[in-house]
Amino acid sequence: MPARSSTRPAGRSSAGRATAVEVFKFGGASLADSAAVRHAIDLILAPRTTRVVNVVSALAGVTDALLAIAASARDGDVKAVDTGVDRLHARHAHVGDGVLPNIRARKALRRELDEAFEELRMLAHGVASLRELTPRTRDFLVARGEQLSARIVVAGLVARKAKAQYVEAAEIIQTDGVFGNAFPDLAATDRLVRATLRPLVKRKVIPVVPGFVGGGEGGALVTLGRGGSDLTATVLGRSLKAERITLWKDVPGLMTTDPRLVPTARIVPQLNVREAAELAYYGAKVLHPRALIPLTRVRVPVFVRPFAEPEAPGTEISVRHTLQRYPVKALSIVRGQALITVTGNGMLGVPGIAARTFAALQQAGISVTLISQASSEHSICLCVPSERGKDAKVALERAFALELSRRELEGMDAQTGMATLAVVGLGMAGSPGIASRMFTALSRAGVNIVAIAQGSSELNISVVIAERDAEAAARAVHDEFQLDKIGGGGVRRDDRLDVVLLGVGQIGRELLRMLPLSRRRVRPTVVGLIDRSGFVFEPDGLSPRQLASAVALKAAGKPLTSLAHARKASAPEAVQWIATHALARPVLVDVTADDTLPAIRKALAADMDIVLANKKPLSAPRAEVAALRALAEQHGARILHETTVGAGLPVMDSYAKLVETGDKVLRVEGCTSGTLGFLLTEIGKGRPFSEALGDAMARGYTEPDPRDDLSGMDVARKALILARMLGFEGDLTDVTVDSLVPEAYRSMPVAKFKATLADQDKMWADRQAAATKQGKVLRYVLRATPTKVAVGLQAVPLSHPLAGLRGTDNQIVFTTKRYKEHPLVITGPGAGPAVTAAGVLNDILQLTPA
Ligand code: ADP
Ligand code: ASP
Ligand code: MG
Repeated sequence: MPARSSTRPAGRSSAGRATAVEVFKFGGASLADSAAVRHAIDLILAPRTTRVVNVVSALAGVTDALLAIAASARDGDVKAVDTGVDRLHARHAHVGDGVLPNIRARKALRRELDEAFEELRMLAHGVASLRELTPRTRDFLVARGEQLSARIVVAGLVARKAKAQYVEAAEIIQTDGVFGNAFPDLAATDRLVRATLRPLVKRKVIPVVPGFVGGGEGGALVTLGRGGSDLTATVLGRSLKAERITLWKDVPGLMTTDPRLVPTARIVPQLNVREAAELAYYGAKVLHPRALIPLTRVRVPVFVRPFAEPEAPGTEISVRHTLQRYPVKALSIVRGQALITVTGNGMLGVPGIAARTFAALQQAGISVTLISQASSEHSICLCVPSERGKDAKVALERAFALELSRRELEGMDAQTGMATLAVVGLGMAGSPGIASRMFTALSRAGVNIVAIAQGSSELNISVVIAERDAEAAARAVHDEFQLDKIGGGGVRRDDRLDVVLLGVGQIGRELLRMLPLSRRRVRPTVVGLIDRSGFVFEPDGLSPRQLASAVALKAAGKPLTSLAHARKASAPEAVQWIATHALARPVLVDVTADDTLPAIRKALAADMDIVLANKKPLSAPRAEVAALRALAEQHGARILHETTVGAGLPVMDSYAKLVETGDKVLRVEGCTSGTLGFLLTEIGKGRPFSEALGDAMARGYTEPDPRDDLSGMDVARKALILARMLGFEGDLTDVTVDSLVPEAYRSMPVAKFKATLADQDKMWADRQAAATKQGKVLRYVLRATPTKVAVGLQAVPLSHPLAGLRGTDNQIVFTTKRYKEHPLVITGPGAGPAVTAAGVLNDILQLTPA
C-alpha cells in the first residue's frame, strides 16, 4: 500500500531544518497480526522528508491478557498463569515469524521471546506463591506487552535493511512514579529525550520506543495508565519539537462520538487542542485522558489517522478553531460509573469541601470523572468508576469523619449503574441555550438526567444518566446537534455509491427509470444487473444505453443473457464475481420475490449494504435471519427493507424513529395488502366477489394466480417481519393465517378456480351483510405483538381507523408506550411498482453520503 503520510500539510514548514522529526504511534487495536506489523513497517519506511520516531502499543489484546495473568498469579492460580503465558508466547512467536522472512532473524527473535516469557513466568510464579501483587510488580509485568511489540517491529525493520534501534522508554521518559497511572516529568523528559533520541535521529537511525511505559523512582518501571501510548507519543513529540504527531488507529479519525455506539458518528476534520483534551479527559476512549497535556504550550499538531487507510486525512488536532457553526463538536459517553453523593447542611458556607473531596479521592488513587455541586450547596455529586465506588465512599467517610460525627454531613451515598455523557465544543461559550437543547433532546428520548455539571472552561457540559440509557442518550444528543453532518462527509472517503440490482422485473425497471432523477449530491451508479439467467457488470457504471437496452429486453420477457456483454451465472456467483472489484459503498438491491438468501450472504461477506423489497429473506426461518443479521453486523453492513411492509409507506422509518426516541412499540395492526384492500372495499360497495376480483385481476393488482393473494401468505410474511422487529421469536409457521380461499378451492387448477369464482359470491354477500348489520366493514387485518401474530378477515367498527381505508391504500397502526390512547397511524398507497420503486430508491439514498 502506498504511504504518503508525510505529504500532509503540517503545522509549520520543515524547510531548512535538516532533521525535522515526526512521531508515529501505532495503536494496539491496529497491531493485530503479522500483516498489520508489516503494514506498520511499510508506513515507517515510506519515503518522506522527515525522520520518524516510533512509538508502539502492545499487540491487540496483549495488555488485557497480561493483566489477567497478573490477576491469576495474585490468586495463586498457577495453571491459569501458565496457560496465559504459553498463549502469549505462541502468539508473539507467530507474529514474529510472519514479519521476518529469514530463518536466522526468526531464531534470534525467538530467543529474545523465549527469555522474556520465561522471565515473565518466573515472576508470575513468584507472585503466585506469595499471593501478593504489588502495583510495582503489576506494572513490571504489564510493561512487557509494549516492550515485546517494539522488539518485533525493530526486528522487522532491520530485516528490511533499515537502521532501526530499540530505545527503552524508562530511560527517556521520567515520571512521577505513580504505579499504574504515572505522568511524565516534562522538563526531565525533555532533557533525556534530547540527549538520547536526538543523536540517534541525526545519525538516521529509526528509533522504536515502547509506549505506555516510563521510569519511576529508583529506576522502577511504571505504566502511564490505559491507552498510555498516546501519551508517550505526545511527550516525545513535545520534547523533540516534532513537526507533527500521528496516532495510527483503527478508526477513521477522531469522531463525533464512539462509532460503536452511534452508527452515524462522523469524522471531525479538525479539532482545537482544548476541545480534544476535554473530550479525552471526559472519557472518549480514542485518546488517553492526559495525552494532550504535554502539548499545552508547545504547538505540535496531532493527527488521528486510520491505520488501514493511510492516505485518508483523519483528524487534525491543532490550535486552529474551525467548524464554528457547530457549538458542540463531539460527545463522549463513559459507562460503568458510580455516582457518589455527599449531603449535609454542614456544607453550607464551609469552604473547601469540594477540594477536600477531590484530595481524598486522589490520595486513594481514584479518578473523578465528573463533579457537580448543587446550587443550594446542600450536596456534591461526583462520578468514579463503578469498581471504585466502595473505595471512594470509604475514603470520603474517612476524610470527613469529623463532620460526620458532628452530623454536619448526613452521609455518603454510592449508586452504581450510571454513565456520564459529556458534550464538548469551543463554540458553546458563545452560544446560549446549548444546555437546554441538550436537556430537551434527552427528555424527548425519555432519558432521565440524574446530575449535571458544566465545566468551568465552558467547553463542556456533562450529565449523569443511567447506564442503560447510554446509547439512546448518545444518539439523541448526536442528532440534536446534527453531528452527523459535520465535515459534510461520511466515514468512507468515496463520493460514490454503486448499486447492484438483483431482479429486473416491474419494480426493478421502474427503479432504473427513477434513479437518474434523484437529486442527491451523490447519485447512485448502477454497476450491475442480475436476473435468473446471469448478469451484466461494468465497474464504472452501466451506461444509460446499456441500461435502456436491458430494460427493453426484460420488458419483452427475455433474459439478461441475451445481451451481448452478459455472463451466465447464478445470483450468488454473480454477486461474488462482482464483489471482487473495487466498488464504492456497494449496495445489493433485491427486488425479486425469490429465495435470495445465498446471494445476500455473499454480498454481506463482501461488505455490501443490502436494500430489500423482497419479503422472503427476512421472513425465512429465524435462525437463518439471525445469522444474516449477525453477518451484517460483523461486516458493518446495513440491511434496509422499508418496502417489505407497506410498499412506499414509511413503516420501518417510523418504527426506527419511535425506537430511537426511546419509545416502545407494543402492538402493530394494519392492512398491508393493496389487492385484498381493493377487493374488500369493492365488496363493501355491494359488488359481487367474482366481479370485484375479476376487476382486480384486470388491473394487474393480483398475482397470476389470485389465490396467492387470497391465501394471506403475503400479508403473513409482512406481519412476521414486523413482529420480529418487536421481538417475536417465531417463524412463518407460527403466524396464524386465515385464508380467504375455501378448502375445496385450494388445489384445483388456476383456470378452474377462475371459472368458478361466482360460486363464492353468495358466501361473500352473506359475510358482507352480517358485517353491515353490525355497522362494521370487512378488512383483512394483520396484528402483531412480541408474542402473537395473526392475519385474517375481520369486521371492524366504522370508528376504527382501518374502516376508513379505500381501494389499494395500506394502513399501519402503531400502539406504543407513548402513542397508547391515540395510536400512530400511517396511511397511503401501498401497492404498485411505482410506489414500491420509490420506497426502494429512498432506502438507497439513505446509504449515500449527504
Ligand atoms: P489505539 O489503538 O491507538 O490504542 P484505541 O483503541 O485506544 O486506539 O482508540 C480507538 C477506539 O476508541 C475506537 O475503537 C473507538 O471505538 C473508540 N472511540 C471512542 N470515542 C471515539 C471517538 N470520539 N472517535 C473515535 N473513536 C472513538
Ligand atoms: N497497551 C496499553 C493499553 O492497552 C497502552 C496502549 O495501548 O496505549 O492500554
Ligand atoms: Mg488506546
